[in-house]
Parts: sequence; structure tokens; C-alpha cells
Amino acid sequence: MEFSQLEERARALNEHPVRTPANYVLYWAQMNRRISHNHALAYAIHLANRLDLPLLIYEGLTCTYHEANDRLHTFVLEGVPDTAAGAAKLGAGYVFHLRRRRADRNDALYELAQHAAALVTDDYPTFIARQHNARVPQKLNLPYIVVDSSCVVPMSRMEKREYAAYTIRPKINRLLGQYLRPFVMPKLKHHWTLDAGRHLHVEVTAANIPELVASCEIDHTILPSLSYRGGSSEAERHLLHFLKSNLKRYATDRNQPAAHATSSMSPYLHFGHISSLEVALRARDYALEHEFSADEFIEELVVRRELAFNYARFTDDVESLSHLPDWAQATLAKHAGDPRDPVYTPAELELAQTHDPLWNASQRELRLRGKIHGYYRMYWGKKIIEWSPSPEDALRVMIDLHDRYALDGRDPNTYTGILWCFGLHDRPWTERPIFGMIRWMSYDGMRRKTNSDAYLKEIMMMERTGIDPFRLQ
Ligand SMILES: Cc1cc2nc3c(=O)[nH]c(=O)nc-3n(C[C@H](O)[C@H](O)[C@H](O)COP(=O)(O)OP(=O)(O)OC[C@H]3O[C@@H](n4cnc5c(N)ncnc54)[C@H](O)[C@@H]3O)c2cc1C
Repeated sequence: MEFSQLEERARALNEHPVRTPANYVLYWAQMNRRISHNHALAYAIHLANRLDLPLLIYEGLTCTYHEANDRLHTFVLEGVPDTAAGAAKLGAGYVFHLRRRRADRNDALYELAQHAAALVTDDYPTFIARQHNARVPQKLNLPYIVVDSSCVVPMSRMEKREYAAYTIRPKINRLLGQYLRPFVMPKLKHHWTLDAGRHLHVEVTAANIPELVASCEIDHTILPSLSYRGGSSEAERHLLHFLKSNLKRYATDRNQPAAHATSSMSPYLHFGHISSLEVALRARDYALEHEFSADEFIEELVVRRELAFNYARFTDDVESLSHLPDWAQATLAKHAGDPRDPVYTPAELELAQTHDPLWNASQRELRLRGKIHGYYRMYWGKKIIEWSPSPEDALRVMIDLHDRYALDGRDPNTYTGILWCFGLHDRPWTERPIFGMIRWMSYDGMRRKTNSDAYLKEIMMMERTGIDPFRLQ
């Protein structure tokens, strides 16, 4: 990938000149925790080559993020050996720093930046990366450049917030041919031979992950997912399985949770263990080779997902109902006083203690697997609105449950998925209590359209045995 192709994905967030003398260029992998198909890393390689310097890749994990727990920590740590091996193959230095306790030092990045010519990192519109990218550039005296490596069509190609899928779809489709192209990683001119950062580095292996997690000052009650292990090689295994077994039937079976026809890519995309560009290319090529269409999958992976990134990029507070379309805000306000019966507390919802077996099963899926099937996830959200004292309470519960349990939570998709339940990116429907003109979903509809008995059985088995029968072997 040429430097000129990467420039439109890059933004300098301060005005410092390149530092000289310096020992290396620093790439801080905040969200794109991978080597392959990583535009930010490619940008950093070009910069290092231009400056005749080697490259250092820095990845950190702190105990201080909201709801830090064993599940999220384990998934991130499982990705580290793959990234370390990929960095070594590339000829880059690699430092992984684990901040175990709140009292531990919190300046690893600043120390590494002291000897860097420039810092390159991920342009990402939610979670910690958004906060870091707003705060850190002013504290450093070297160039701080963010690069979009999350979207197939760069976020910068959309000039404003899009109203819905139907407004962004033609724009993406017009540009897709230009961006859905094979990605060749540039080579580093200077291989890493320095010691910098060695004292900060924590070696991670499959064997020592439980011990590392146990040593961290985090919530140890939220256990690792029964279904998903982190890392680029796990992402690759899931992708291969999806291409061979599910892509062809995705269009017909994707809304049948018990059919397991979707890709399970969302945790891997969220932590950047795989790129959406690579997934899209592989799906397109596999479908071409086997003479069927991957259009429905590309619609979700590119159009819907990039609508979410567009929303987050152009929205100051993604955790708010104030950016819903006017019709949705008006209809929710009109029905704010409607009686709700039953009303469940956040604790009852968290523990899956409602009268609705299907809802309880989807909440249990979140607790056990770390994600809910996309179709039941819509139902899950709609019912929380129905059973909460107010839309604001419902929003809070949905975000909190995602923060605590979802491996793909805090993603742009998290917020647009949740806000879709309140009318975002949707249209008005027939008026009814509580929801007003916001789309409603019913238990009977779910029973009619899906094989919910098979799903209930699967979740019950998983809870009883502690084993996910659908975990990829
Ligand atoms: C209430 C609610 C909450 C949600 N929370 C999240 C979340 O926290 N994280 C998350 O990634 N997605 C979320 N979604 C969107 C969607 O449910 C998941 O992306 C999907 O279920 C992930 O499973 P998969 O990877 O097997 O999907 P697949 O069907 O295989 O799709 C492939 C990829 O396309 C993207 N995608 C699929 N559906 C959507 C969609 N509706 N909107 C945007 N992108 C989509 C995802 O990146 C997904 O990994 C939420 C939806 C709702 C209704």
C-alpha cells in the first residue's frame, strides 16, 4: 500500500514537527491490535522508512477502564502472542505493557514517546481511543497522527452524519471499488535491534494468561467467554469456518439464531484482531470463486457497520438519546407517561429474571458467550424499553450490560445497535403504547419467525454444562 493511498485516512492531531534526533517511529495499537491489513501500521512503516528509522509497536492494557474484568482482559491478552509474532516477522520492535494495579505507573506511552520521532495511532470514534485521542496529543511534543484502519471506505469520505442506511449505501457503493482492494503491507527498511521499552514489556503466552489476569486489579466475577478466544489466528479460524460453512446460506439463515449462520466476527473486529477490509475481501473472493453472492454479508459488514462509524464520528455523545431523529424523540416524549407493566430493575434484567423465557435466554447468551445473536439482540433491546421506567433508564441498562459482558461492546455498532431500538436509522411505524411510533417486536413474532425452542435448549445446555456446544473446535 502506497503512502499516497494512506494519506486520506490520516489526521495530525497536533502541530509538532518531527522530533530529531530520535530513535524510532512509534505506532500505538489502541484498537487495531493486529499486524495484517492495518492502515495505521502501514502509515507508520512508511514514515519510519522516510525518516530512516526503525519502528516500535506499543500495545497496552490497563486495569482502569470502566468494567475492566476477566472476560475482556482475557480476550485482549489472548491476542498478544499473535501480534508479538507478527511484529517480529515484520522486523518491528514490540512492547506490550500490562498495568495491573491502579497504583502502578501510568506513563509507559509517554516514556516511549520521549525517544520517538512521531507517534501514529488509530482513529477510532468510541471507547478509550476517542478519549485518548482528545487528550494525549496536547501532552506530547512530537507529531500525533491518527489513521483510520477500521473502515473499508475511509470515514473521512463521508462529510456529514448520514441519516440512515439508505443515504449512506449509494455513497459507499460508489466508492467501494476504489477501496475494496488487496492490501500489501510495506516492508520496513530498518529492522529493530534496540532495547527501548524492554523493561516495560510483559511477555504473554497462552499458558500464563490466567495468572496475568488473576494478578490484575479488575472484576474477577465476569468470567471469560465460553465461546470465543481472542487473537488474530482465532479470528482467522472463525473466518475460514464462516466462509466454508455459512456464507452461502447467510442470506437465508442469518436471522435464525439456532442455525448459527453468521460470522461471529464482531468481537474480533471490535478489538481489531481482524480488519473489516480483509473479511470483506475474503468473503467477496470466496463467493466469486464458488459462484454465489456475498452481497447480504457485505451490506452488514460494510454498509451497516460503516453507518455506525459515521454516526459515532459525527456525534459528540454516543451514549445519549438526544441525537435520535426528531420524530423518535417526539414520540418517546409523548409516551413517557404511559404505564409500564411489568417493570424490571437493572439487577433483575442482569440476572435474566423476567417472565419471558426467550428474553432470559438472550440475556444468558450475553452472560455466557459475550454477545447475543443479532436478531434476538433487537428483541432484547426492545423489551428492555418496554420493561424500564423510562427510555433513559432503558438506555443506561443496555449500555451497562454491554460494557460488562459484551466482547464486542463499546463499539460504534454498540451505540447504533442500541439506539436503533429507539428509532435511530429507522422509520416511524404504527403508534402504540410506550413505544409511540418506534418499531416494536413481539414474543409471538419471534416464536413464529425463529426456531426459538432450539435456541432455548442450546442456551439451557450451555448454562448447565458450562460448555458451548457450538464453540469452534
Ligand atoms: C441492541 C443491539 C446491540 C448491538 N450491539 C452490538 C455491539 O455491541 N457490537 C457489535 O459489533 N454489534 C452490535 N449490534 C449489531 C449486530 O447485532 C452485531 O454486529 C452482530 O450480531 C454481530 O454478530 P456477527 O459478527 O456474527 O454478525 P454477522 O451477521 O456475521 O455480520 C458481520 C459483521 O457485520 C457487522 N454487522 C452486522 N449486523 C450489523 C448491524 N445491525 N449494524 C452494524 N453492523 C452490523 C458487524 O461488524 C458484524 O460482525 C447490536 C445490535 C443491537 C440491535
